This record gives sequence, C-alpha cells and structure tokens, in this order.
Amino acid sequence: MEFFKKNPNRDITHPEIVDWVTAEFLKRNGEVFRDPDRQIRQLAQKGHLIKKAKGVYHYDPDFVSVRELEDFTNAQKAEILKRDNYRCVVCGRGIADGVELQVDHIKPKDLGGEATIENGQTLCAQHNFRKKNYKQTETGKKMFIRLYELSKAIGDTETQKFCADILEVFESNNVNGHIEWKK
Ligand SMILES: [Zn+2]
Repeated sequence: MEFFKKNPNRDITHPEIVDWVTAEFLKRNGEVFRDPDRQIRQLAQKGHLIKKAKGVYHYDPDFVSVRELEDFTNAQKAEILKRDNYRCVVCGRGIADGVELQVDHIKPKDLGGEATIENGQTLCAQHNFRKKNYKQTETGKKMFIRLYELSKAIGDTETQKFCADILEVFESNNVNGHIEWKK
C-alpha cells in the first residue's frame, strides 16, 4: 500500500509493483519477499485497489474511502439484528437454534449497495452462503433447463431424464424457485 499511496491515480503494471516491493523489502529486512503476487491480489480483493486489467492495478484514494463507507458499523449491525428479532429472515432460525447470524447487504456492495439499516438483513450463515453463491446456482439451473428443452426437442430421452432428475433436486430443495422450469 505504501507504494500505491505514493503513486495514486495511475495505472500501474504488475512488474513495476513487484520490482519495487522486492527491492524495498530486501533493503529494509535483508530478506526476500515471498509471493508478492498473492499480496497484491489480496489488496485488490479487499477493495483497496482497483484492478483495471490483468496485472494492472490502480489506487484511487476516494474509491477506498467509499468502500469503507459501504461496510456496516457495529452499531448498525446491532440495530439490524434487533429489528429482525435476532432471526434469519429466510428460515427464522436464531442463535437458540444453534446457527450463526450474519448481517448481509440486501443489494450487494459491488452492485452499489450502501451500508444503511434499510439495506441490511439478518441471515444465518447457511442462507448467507447460499445467497452469495446464488448467481452460480442460477446459471446451473438455466443451463439444465436449456439442455432439457433441447434434448426434448430432438427426442433424446436419456439426456432429458438426466436433466429432469437434476432439476427435481433444485425444486425439492427450494433453490432458485423464481426460475421457472416447464416440465
Ligand atoms: Zn436461514
């Protein structure tokens, strides 16, 4: 971050960062810095840097302060938990049922969701995990519906049955119910 803070608002390519970090680390600590790539990636994942392209990073001081505003404060979390009666809004389970409760952004941070009480909801760890990965299960369900319809159209009953079996599992587990599968 020290390097990026000295070089704000500029697209910086990977070798330039690695060269600086490696040389500085050796000079200051007399040791070789291990795996700088991973450290840089983590800074980007945590929202401190903007990844402009593969191996190109950008530090914008305003962007970082905006990111920090998007996180709920402890006081906000406490208020959201209280409003939701300390229960997951999906399954109704609470701490007494042995689940861990988490405060979730209804509209996700990376889609511009803000840290407001209205944009917060209480979820158990299981439903928070499921929500975070919902996009992938949606893609999966749509893919099997497409394959189901295609195999039905060409009369491939074996593939059609395979897809139907999988889609039944989506339905029986109540996953992605908003995506309609016409049997
Ligand atoms: Zn739940």
